[in-house]
Amino acid sequence: MTDQNHYEIIVIGSGPAGFTAAIYAVRGGASAALFGGMAPGGQLLQTMEIENYPGFTDPVVGADLMQKMMKQTQRLGARVLQESIVSADLSSRPFKLKSSGGQQYTADALILATGAQARWLGTPSEEKFKGKGVSGCATCDGFFYRGKEVAVIGGGDSAAEDALFLTKFASKVYLVHRRDKLRASFRLQEKLKSNPKVELVYDHVPEEFLGDAKLSAVRLKNVKTGETRELAVSGAFIAIGHTPATELVKGQLKLDEDGYIVTDDRTAASVDGVYAAGDVMDTRYKQAVVAAGAGCKAALEALAFIEGCPKRA
Ligand code: NAP
Repeated sequence: MTDQNHYEIIVIGSGPAGFTAAIYAVRGGASAALFGGMAPGGQLLQTMEIENYPGFTDPVVGADLMQKMMKQTQRLGARVLQESIVSADLSSRPFKLKSSGGQQYTADALILATGAQARWLGTPSEEKFKGKGVSGCATCDGFFYRGKEVAVIGGGDSAAEDALFLTKFASKVYLVHRRDKLRASFRLQEKLKSNPKVELVYDHVPEEFLGDAKLSAVRLKNVKTGETRELAVSGAFIAIGHTPATELVKGQLKLDEDGYIVTDDRTAASVDGVYAAGDVMDTRYKQAVVAAGAGCKAALEALAFIEGCPKRA
């Protein structure tokens, strides 16, 4: 390892929390690198229209917003690597990290902004039809369902957005939710209800995905009556929330029972010099703008922390 692989602050994750942290780190005078994975941008890459991120008069496409954040981060002098961190040793400082490219890196302070991964139902038939009709990404796969009937599973903003997006291609979109009230924002609910292609199916959960080589139907169970029915669809999009991406630090940092990194109100995790920002620690808001704010806090705290670290040549 060369000293070129040492940074005062290393950020892992390339959503709004990660980029904001790296921006504040370099503007605060630290050497900083951000590991963004193969496709930097995080969850917003799959969001078509964002109209609640300040600064954009018209809705902005998620991928465009993330491109702007990445370019801004690079222009300010942070190194952005399209690699992942595959292991982290937080037992002593500087922290030791290994990248997917096989390189070792060290950091005086670490900011974890690894976000969250889409959840799956976890049933055998879901697994069987993944890529054959069952998908976790409407933005990626919606195009293949032109003129077909599809179902979206979930009742939050993601499910609502996916359902609306799919109406551009599909002839009909069933939104299947396990309760009789959606969790999605009022505005999205209004859009769903006024879209003639959307049919809301309340109080139902998928029991089994059915078909031969490809998905042809979903057997739904009414959670109130126990009755089942088959919905003939060629596609089923799972949008039931996310799980924090904390595999890297399991056993090294304090996590809550759902796997989120536990921080104090200044984003400090349970090991000195380690901070967390965004959906990896946010159990409540999970909004891009909140993640960006947390990234800013984490960087300011990390900058204060490295003031006390021994200087390197
Ligand atoms: P979410 O808000 O956690 O919603 C997950 C949905 O899936 C809930 O309706 C939940 O039902 C349902 N669900 C969970 N587990 C299930 C299971 N095993 N079987 C069936 N249904 C299940 O997740 P999200 O929609 O991904 O949103 C995450 C965060 O990102 C939210 O804070 C959201 O506001 C934000 N977001 C914002 C935008 C935007 O502003 N444009 C877009 C996307 C996401 P219950 O309701 O019964 O719990």
